[in-house]
Amino acid sequence: MAGSTPVYGFPYPTGTDRVMDGDNAIAALAQAIEDRLAVWPPVRMQAGTSPAFPSINGGTGQSLAMTFAVGRFTQTPMITLAGVSNGHMAASLGTGASATGCTLRIYNPTGTVISSPYCMFSAVQMSEASGPGLTRELLEGEAQYLATCHTDGCDNAGEPIPIVWAELDGPIVVGCGVCGQPIEDVTA
Ligand SMILES: [Zn+2]
Repeated sequence: MAGSTPVYGFPYPTGTDRVMDGDNAIAALAQAIEDRLAVWPPVRMQAGTSPAFPSINGGTGQSLAMTFAVGRFTQTPMITLAGVSNGHMAASLGTGASATGCTLRIYNPTGTVISSPYCMFSAVQMSEASGPGLTRELLEGEAQYLATCHTDGCDNAGEPIPIVWAELDGPIVVGCGVCGQPIEDVTA
């Protein structure tokens, strides 16, 4: 009678199982692992609390650059934030998040000081090649284009990059996410 692990339910043979059925036992375990991996769990992740901000006066904002664990991410992860404080505070991400860090922004919209605010965060990289992970099928009214940046010195320069654009957004407009410049070289 096979047993199974408590968290994922991976099967394994127990004392009275016959050794000659080992191939079946290993096949069942391999299939269970494959089924588990098929739900596409993130390959890299970090979650935690940010460094503390100083107390923040009413009507003002503060920014704080936060580093991720060294070597944790190979692509810019998908980052979500929540502000935590003894008041009503807003928290958001600054521009320029990367594989090594991001900028946290908080704002105090109230008239009174908020003390010792911080953020809870989670950062997820869904595949080795991409932060968001698998791309989806095109929807009706969407088309794929290739956009190539030609800015001198840009890491994306000369690399045709697939992008998706929907009809309802009008004529296509593209900018480079690395150098920030408009991209004119766009082909269907
Ligand atoms: Zn560029």
